[in-house]
Amino acid sequence: MRYPELRLFIGGEWRNTPDSLQVLNPATEAEIGRLPIARKADLEDALTAADEGFRIWSRTAPRARADIILRAARLMRERAEEIAPSITMENGKPLIQARLEVIRGAEVFEWDAGEAQRMYGRVIPSAPGIRYTVVQEPVGTVAAFAPWNFPMSQPARKIAGALASGCSIILKAAEETPAGAVHIARAFQDAGLPPGVLNLVFGVPAEISAFLIPQDQVRLVAFTGSTSVGIHLTELAARSMTPVLMELGGHAPVIVCDDVDARAAGVISASRKARNSGQVCTSPTRFFVAEKSFDVFAGAFADGAASVRFGDGLEPGTEMGPVANSRRIEAMEALVADARDKGAKVLAGGARPNRKGYFYPVTVLADVPDDARVMREEPFGPLAVINPVKSLDEAICKANALPFGLAAYGFTHSAANADRLASEIEAGNVSINTLEASVAEVPFGGVKYSGHGREGGAEGLHHYTHVKTISHRMALESDPTIAGARI
Ligand code: NAD
Repeated sequence: MRYPELRLFIGGEWRNTPDSLQVLNPATEAEIGRLPIARKADLEDALTAADEGFRIWSRTAPRARADIILRAARLMRERAEEIAPSITMENGKPLIQARLEVIRGAEVFEWDAGEAQRMYGRVIPSAPGIRYTVVQEPVGTVAAFAPWNFPMSQPARKIAGALASGCSIILKAAEETPAGAVHIARAFQDAGLPPGVLNLVFGVPAEISAFLIPQDQVRLVAFTGSTSVGIHLTELAARSMTPVLMELGGHAPVIVCDDVDARAAGVISASRKARNSGQVCTSPTRFFVAEKSFDVFAGAFADGAASVRFGDGLEPGTEMGPVANSRRIEAMEALVADARDKGAKVLAGGARPNRKGYFYPVTVLADVPDDARVMREEPFGPLAVINPVKSLDEAICKANALPFGLAAYGFTHSAANADRLASEIEAGNVSINTLEASVAEVPFGGVKYSGHGREGGAEGLHHYTHVKTISHRMALESDPTIAGARI
């Protein structure tokens, strides 16, 4: 299995630089690659290239843009068996999840390629002799920042939105997991994308964002990551009135009503919690379970969690890989210790295994007091808390108690309960009887501190465009409110 050569991609060319960062395999802690660090001159070149790329791409017919995006997506599908192992090696997820991620990435491109051809404007009813037309135009060059939890599908979201809209993009993908973005750039190069439309840089994140965001050419900042970094980038962007698209943290609540099969819901929840080792902004985390169903649900969840086979994602049969970096291990250990000290019960997991690699088992805490840190801080790892509730009112109140609002879930067969969950929970995405929240064809994003703007669905290109109103009078007109105005 080969890990790709890592390079910057600027103006249609691959570029090395003198200084580099280590890329580690989280399952073995061994180095698998060296990543060039962009210097100021490289970023300046990326800006010049993106400016030129925008000039060409924004004047390319939507149909022609879609053709190139679809060709690149087809190459990603064809190369899935080559790409998936490199994602597993750098991020840790099982190979089956890495393959699925490559396909999900291709689906994002395919969906947005279709949307590129449906960026409709409007003609507004008006008096005879005047026509008001509203059109959507690409904003310009996008500075985008993608995280390490989905090395392929996270960069895909940003690149697809920008390219489908007619924008150019400078993407800083995650330094810990660069291969997914490198494979995407290769596919676009081979698909015939004009130079400069897509540029890929890596380096010191804070330095790159501080340099790029204030530049005149940058007309949108798109970021996925933690709320604290999202706020910092939003502040930087505000100084130049640059709009932002922010997909930030969540702390997803799951409400389990007493009318569903609590055992089945527990089994589903345990396996979903293991997905991507819990490092998903929509990962189900705070479970509020009707008292009557609590013991059965918690028992099934704990059994399911304990039976998850964790190991190196490249080994057949692995159901959960390591977490992606040592920071996540430290975060799990601190949150579990704090909850334990405050009286929580550990139903499964709770201790790091004695082996090399950043492994941490699916951990289930029950009866966790509200003042435990894990009730407020997103664990972003394989950690779930299960607490009983006396009523749906109490569950909804607890679900809405945090400043986050990204994904939320409910298990119920009651239409009345489902309606209440859908309308009363403060979140960008509410899913009933499924723990899936994000597919290419639906808009995805948050409310409150989980960010704003949407990726995917019919709304996915809105942020990458601005609206222009054209007022066209068929004859020259003088202003009747100004005395003496004459033509
Ligand atoms: P982080 O916010 O520091 O990093 C997330 C990504 O942002 C990384 O790829 C990093 O390179 C980039 N980044 C960090 N500082 C930056 C800056 N000043 N300018 C530009 N880019 C910057 O967090 P982390 O320690 O890597 O992960 C921890 C937390 O991040 C998690 O607890 C989770 O809440 C959040 N996170 C969320 C998502 C998501 O999908 N919403 C993904 C990854 C991480």
